[in-house]
Amino acid sequence: MPESEKKRSGGKNVTSSIARRINASVWLDKLESYVFLNVAILAALFVMLVLYSIGWTPAGDLTAVELLKEIRDMEFTGDSLRNLVMEIHFASGEIRTTALGSWIEFLLPVGVIVTAGEGIDLFTSLFGAHKILKKLRPLDEIVARATAISKISLDQTKIEHLEEAIRTASTQDGQVHLSTGDSDLRKVESALNQLLLKMEDSYRQQTRFVSDASHELRTPIAVIQGYADMLDRWGKEDPEILQEGITSIKNESQHMKELVEQLLFLARGDSGRNTLHKEKTDLRELIAEVWEESSMIDPDHEYVFISAGKELRVGADEASSGNITLPAAPPAFVEVDVSMVKQSARIFVQNAAKYSEPGSTIRLSVNSSGGKVSYIVEDEGSGIGKEDLKHIFERFYRSDKARNSDTGGTGLGLSIAKWIVDAHDGSIDVTSRPDFGSRFVVSFPAA
Ligand code: ADP
Repeated sequence: MPESEKKRSGGKNVTSSIARRINASVWLDKLESYVFLNVAILAALFVMLVLYSIGWTPAGDLTAVELLKEIRDMEFTGDSLRNLVMEIHFASGEIRTTALGSWIEFLLPVGVIVTAGEGIDLFTSLFGAHKILKKLRPLDEIVARATAISKISLDQTKIEHLEEAIRTASTQDGQVHLSTGDSDLRKVESALNQLLLKMEDSYRQQTRFVSDASHELRTPIAVIQGYADMLDRWGKEDPEILQEGITSIKNESQHMKELVEQLLFLARGDSGRNTLHKEKTDLRELIAEVWEESSMIDPDHEYVFISAGKELRVGADEASSGNITLPAAPPAFVEVDVSMVKQSARIFVQNAAKYSEPGSTIRLSVNSSGGKVSYIVEDEGSGIGKEDLKHIFERFYRSDKARNSDTGGTGLGLSIAKWIVDAHDGSIDVTSRPDFGSRFVVSFPAA
């Protein structure tokens, strides 16, 4: 910010007065604690001196308090500090004298050094306001900016300029851009341009989403329509065509149902209506459940759960009984919405199955390290090319390979998984090699 602007704004005056006040308060606190500390040290030294003078030892018959209670009077005599003598008069009439000269000779320099140190510290602290001022610099700038903006006099002509600029906002590089040509309005102009950019970006995302969604829905509708026509023409007489038509219509409507459910999930997410019900959960148990259920539903792949260094495999029958005991291992607690995180894991596991050959192995595991708890899904499938890898989390993105295969996806699974993981402040790391397989590591903050 230019100096002249700062001066005009008066922002610096505000923050330096705040800094001075903070410094004065810190200085007074420091002074108070030094005085308290010194008085406490002197009192402790005096009591120790008295106890020493009356010959108290921890091993003696009387406690220190009992002995102190016996004291009736105390007198100090001597013409100088060096000759100072302390006389202690007991209830029994006994008088004990102690020469304090050597004590004072020893303690005085120590006291002087300590007090000088405190004094120097208090003195330098008097000038500590500039350090506080440095820390308050961002505040200083905010004040200056706010003052500068508030000083722009928005007279009728300027308001008209602004209105005209909004009405005639031009399109530059495909972006709406607003320009008044008035240097006083430059700040307002740049704020409005930034806002326009954001609105435009979100509008573009919305329209792309709607057009992609309509396109994706059009395909199954066209297929259903085609089969309905075919049934109408030939299906009534030919049972083979009838069966083919029914199966295809069933498959397509199932695909459409899936697509609509996924679209609804993302729409709810975008509008902030997907509420999370977080609870403390052992991620190992949660992923083990997904592993069991996958083994049960999909007999075409071998599902392995790696836990405590052991590779666990289940046959479909065992998995359906739900009787699997995991080997003992420390729990991996996370604070998550259980059903959503399960949904995310199912997406990765189903993808692993979709994009790998029957008979291949899919590995699931859970790891804790560096304040994070992660679940890992690995497959030996087709892998993802470098170019595709950049886009797989985009809505409706499917690699050419996936589009041309009959795996039947929608291109929304990973967008949903990412939404869920982001909503839990988590992260996803993907490692993949075409024809070798993929590894998805999904991490959450440890609870
Ligand atoms: P889809 O419904 O097509 O599976 P996703 O959003 O789940 O949609 O995945 C997007 C794309 O990422 C897939 O079409 C596929 O090309 C690729 N992909 C995702 N998971 C894997 C995987 N485990 N192996 C290979 N490719 C994958």
